[in-house]
Amino acid sequence: MNADQKTALVSRRSLLKGAGAVSLLPLLSACGATGISSGTAGRVIVVGGGFGGATAAKYIKRGNPAIDVTLIEPNKTFYTCPFSNLVLAGERNMDSIGHNYQELQEVYGVKVIHALAEDVDPVAHTLRLSTGSTLKYDRLVLSPGIDFRWNSIEGYDQQAAELAPHAWKAGPQTLLLRKQLEQMDDGGVYILSAPANPFRCPPGPYERASMIAHYFSQHKPRSKVLILDSKDNFSKQGLFTAAWKEVYGDRIEWVGLSNDGRVTRVDAAKREVITEFGTVHKASVLNVVPPQKAGVIAERAGVTNESGWVPVNPRTFESERVKDIYVVGDATVAAPMPKSGFAANAQGKVAAAAIVASLEGTDTVDPYWANTCYSLVNPEYGISVAGVYRLNDENRIIETPGSGGLSAAKAPSSIRRNEAEYAVGWYNAISQDTWGTKL
Ligand code: FAD
Repeated sequence: MNADQKTALVSRRSLLKGAGAVSLLPLLSACGATGISSGTAGRVIVVGGGFGGATAAKYIKRGNPAIDVTLIEPNKTFYTCPFSNLVLAGERNMDSIGHNYQELQEVYGVKVIHALAEDVDPVAHTLRLSTGSTLKYDRLVLSPGIDFRWNSIEGYDQQAAELAPHAWKAGPQTLLLRKQLEQMDDGGVYILSAPANPFRCPPGPYERASMIAHYFSQHKPRSKVLILDSKDNFSKQGLFTAAWKEVYGDRIEWVGLSNDGRVTRVDAAKREVITEFGTVHKASVLNVVPPQKAGVIAERAGVTNESGWVPVNPRTFESERVKDIYVVGDATVAAPMPKSGFAANAQGKVAAAAIVASLEGTDTVDPYWANTCYSLVNPEYGISVAGVYRLNDENRIIETPGSGGLSAAKAPSSIRRNEAEYAVGWYNAISQDTWGTKL
C-alpha cells in the first residue's frame, strides 16, 4: 500500500466513526483496496444463516458498514440445535428456539435472500442460487454446517430418517422425534445410535439421552434409554455417567464401541438396528445420528479435503484450497475447537475481521477463541466444559494450557442448578449476538 492509500484508509476510518457509510464510497473506490468490485467497499456473500454465517454477516457490517453483505439462507426461521433436546423432552417449544433475520436486515443492513446456494465458480467469483440467479462476490463465506453421510450405515438414508429420525438439524426432524416419544408406550425402549468423532456437538447425544430420560421419569416411568455408541470415550463422560446414576438410576444404558456398540445396519421400518458383531436391538423409538461431513456446498466450492471437512488457515478462516472463500463453523477442521455453536460464532467473528481487513488492505489481528458447552442432565442439573484457544508458532489452534476445564466431579445440587441457569443465560446471549433476537 502506498502513502496515499494509507492516508485514505486512515481518513475513511475517522469518517466511519462520525459519518454515514454512504458518503465514503467514492473515497473507497479511489483507495483501490485489494481486488474489490469497483464503486463499493467490497461485496461479500455469506452462505448459511446459522451460528457461523449470521455472525459473520453481522460482524462484517459492524466492521465496515460500507461493505455490501448478502446472506443466503433457505429458511425464514432458523431453529437452533442448542436447546432442541429440551423440545424433545417437552420442556420448551419450537418457537423458543426459532430466530429470524429481521434485525440483521433492519439494524445492520445485511441483505437476505432466502434460497439455496447451489454452485460456486471460484475463478469467476460467482455463486449460483436455486432461484436461477448468479451473484458476484469479492469474498465468500461458507457456513453451511453439516450434511449426513447417507448409507454409511447400511439402510440409513433420507427415507429411513422419516421413520427413524436423526433430529441432528433442528426443525421438522425435532418435531418428528418428539411426536414419536409422546406416542411411545410406557415400558418402551428409546435407542440412540451415536457416531464416531468428528461430529456436530460432541456432548449432544448424551445431553439428549439425559433429557429423554428426564421425560420418561416424568411421563413414562417404565421406559428406558439405550445408547449404542461408535466410540469408547465421549465428551464429559465422567460427569454424565455419574449424573445418570445419581439422577436416573439404571434408566440409561450406554454401550461403547468395544462392547459392540457400533451400529452397522438399520431397518427403519422395523425400528431395528444391527451392530458390528451381529447383535439385533429392537427399539420403540429409534434415533440414528449418522456420520457427518461438511455441508455439500463446501464440496461444490472445492474447499473440502479427503476427510469431507474443510481445512482453513486458522488465522483468518480462509480456505487453504481456494482463495477468497472463508469457511467457518461445523464444516471446518478446527480441532481442538469442538463443532459447537459457540465455536462457530467465534470463528464467524475471526473471519469477519479478516475479511474487513483484506478488503481494506490492512492486516488482521491475531485471533483467539473461547468456547463453553453446557449440557443439561435435567432442567435443573447443568454441567459444562470450557476452553480458550489460540494459535501456536506453527499457526495451529491449541487450547491455552490451564484455561477452562470441566465442571467439578463432585458438587452440591446448588452448583448444578446454577450451571443449568448459566446455560439459559448463555443461550440468550449467543442468540442475541448472532441474530439479535430472544433476549
Ligand atoms: P448451522 O448453525 O447448522 O447453520 C448452517 C446454515 O446453513 C443452516 O441454516 C442451513 O439452512 C444453511 N445452509 C446449508 N447449506 C446451504 C446452502 N447450500 N445454501 C444456503 N444455506 C445453506 N452448540 C453449542 O455451542 N452449544 C450447545 O448447547 C449445543 N447443543 C447442541 C445440541 C444438539 C442436539 C445438536 C445437534 C447441536 C448442538 N450444538 C450446540 C452444535 C451447534 O448446533 C452447531 O455447532 C452449530 O449450529 C454450527 O453452526 P454452523 O454455522 O456451522 O451451522
